[in-house]
Amino acid sequence: MSLSLADLQYLYQLPFNDLIKQAHEVYKKHHDFNTVHLCGSLSIKTGSCPENCAYCPQSVHYKTYVEKESLLDPNDVLKTAVRAKAHGVTHFCLGAAWSYAPKGNAFQKVLEIVRKVHSTGLQVCCSLGSISEEQAQALLEAGCTTYNYNLDTSPEFYPKIITTRTFESRHQTLQIIRKSNLKISCGGILGMGESIEDRLKLIYLISQLSPQPEMVPLNALVAIEGTPLGEKTFIDPLEYIRIVAIARIAMPRTIIAMAAGRYKMSFETQALAFFSGANAIYIGERILTTSTPDLSADLNMLAKLGMNAYENHIDIRQ
Ligand code: SAM
Ligand code: SF4
Repeated sequence: MSLSLADLQYLYQLPFNDLIKQAHEVYKKHHDFNTVHLCGSLSIKTGSCPENCAYCPQSVHYKTYVEKESLLDPNDVLKTAVRAKAHGVTHFCLGAAWSYAPKGNAFQKVLEIVRKVHSTGLQVCCSLGSISEEQAQALLEAGCTTYNYNLDTSPEFYPKIITTRTFESRHQTLQIIRKSNLKISCGGILGMGESIEDRLKLIYLISQLSPQPEMVPLNALVAIEGTPLGEKTFIDPLEYIRIVAIARIAMPRTIIAMAAGRYKMSFETQALAFFSGANAIYIGERILTTSTPDLSADLNMLAKLGMNAYENHIDIRQ
């Protein structure tokens, strides 16, 4: 039975130790808490996105460091995927700065990319913007198993962050993805100026998806110069960990990923997040267009914590 918003509000106000202890209890009941999923990501089409997400360096509305790049050659994507696999990645996310996945030849090229990455044995996740039922089906047949489509924040705060689409339309696309049998990856961003109530509402709404998402990426805002959120200070690590813990309690069997912004977190913050139920990290050169920690620093951190990486991608909800 899923938790109510009131339950999450109660959990949030617990003393920190009580909250993370409860989250850890849930976590160790369902997962090997010394093992993490290593994820990789690649932006296969970068920049000049028509949406105006206030956090995003790829929006055409903002002047940022991001150089626009058209859809990558499938063989170049394959080379990156093979390198990621060699570093222990099991789940590979193909992101694109589209509001809607393209039709025609461009989409056929995306399917070729998916087939090539799938042929490496990696779990393929796509994040291409909004998609139709037919496109979802075609992605599934090409070997994509998961579709990432983040709700990002609460319905109340959403219009302050994005005005070129609505929270409702985002939610509707999740239903299309759900109907296609693609697994869902759905998370959000913390530290955009949202309230605690907004954060809890986001986790609550994600946890109400049925079945619950396979993966919940929890991004910490990377404040990008040139975007409307470029001046935001980084989220308080303890607040980030509280939300990790609440997400874990609300979604016991889901993979909870520390996604964007992790490169700004200390080892100690990450260790506490792992204890509280985070069980996936994005490694490699970048997470789409934002930085990730050095691979050697990540491997050193896992070694220091005595933690391992899953050799194969597993979805324990099955
Ligand atoms: N265009 C597609 C879309 O918006 O769904 C996929 C692109 S990418 C996967 C989009 C996600 O990356 C956003 O939903 C957000 O959660 C995350 N993201 C983008 N810019 C970010 C930033 N500056 N800081 C933290 N997370 C960010
Ligand atoms: Fe476009 Fe996605 Fe960036 Fe929003 S988050 S501006 S939809 S690429």
